[in-house]
Amino acid sequence: MATIFSRIVAGEIPCHKVAENDEFFAFLDINPVAAGHTLVIPKKEVDYIFDIDDAELGRMMTFAKRVAKAQEKAIACKRVGIAVMGLEVPHAHIHLIPITKESDMYFGRKKLEMSQDELASIAAKIREKFE
Ligand code: 5GP
Repeated sequence: MATIFSRIVAGEIPCHKVAENDEFFAFLDINPVAAGHTLVIPKKEVDYIFDIDDAELGRMMTFAKRVAKAQEKAIACKRVGIAVMGLEVPHAHIHLIPITKESDMYFGRKKLEMSQDELASIAAKIREKFE
């Protein structure tokens, strides 16, 4: 059965898309720990990120870097933090989180509550800066 993230890529489940190419897809996390919290995934389903072959993993990181550069321009932050856990969704994903302080990366805290309009506006700003 397709993962929830494959269903997002297929357009069966809505998301706030940030960027896409033929191999990778980036979209806002539904429960952001900070404004602009984005997930980067391979379109090809793989559960564990370190099962991705070297060349593809390199391309995925390069794509994530382009997304992070767009986040830096679109969202006030000191830098973009990166995290990989994958304990909830069995489809490899990189969390890209605009941060100004360490606690912005703390996944255990209460998630931000943002309206669909706010999320759409943030995604549009990042999309605009994506090169
Ligand atoms: P992890 O697997 O790295 O522990 O976390 C999975 C992440 O995916 C979580 O931060 C969660 O909020 C996010 N997530 C889970 N389901 C959805 C979804 O349907 N849409 C979006 N945009 N994000 C999701």
